[in-house]
Amino acid sequence: MKPYDPNRPCAKCGFDKASTRYCSTQVPATDGPYGKEYIERQCQRCSYTWQEIPLDAVRSSEELLAGMAGELLAALAELTAWVADSGAADREMIERAQGLVQQGQEAARV
Ligand SMILES: [Zn+2]
Repeated sequence: MKPYDPNRPCAKCGFDKASTRYCSTQVPATDGPYGKEYIERQCQRCSYTWQEIPLDAVRSSEELLAGMAGELLAALAELTAWVADSGAADREMIERAQGLVQQGQEAARV
């Protein structure tokens, strides 16, 4: 499913006016992270219907990803420190990992 866009044209006939209806009933399990709510759109010319992701559900997936990135960075920083202490990797490898951690942390601050 794509995020809700009030200006999205009908995929079947190209008409640019579709009705919008919020639905909170069951959607197929394959839609996973977006949960059980969706926006139902119906083309006002050919009656084709499709589903879009509610705006607040899109934002919560972004927050979820940001949280995961933060956890991965913390884990990578810890792992890099452990590998550096253990002497199990060469200097170049450790510096590369430290560089990645730093890049990620800088990106996360933007
Ligand atoms: Zn249509």
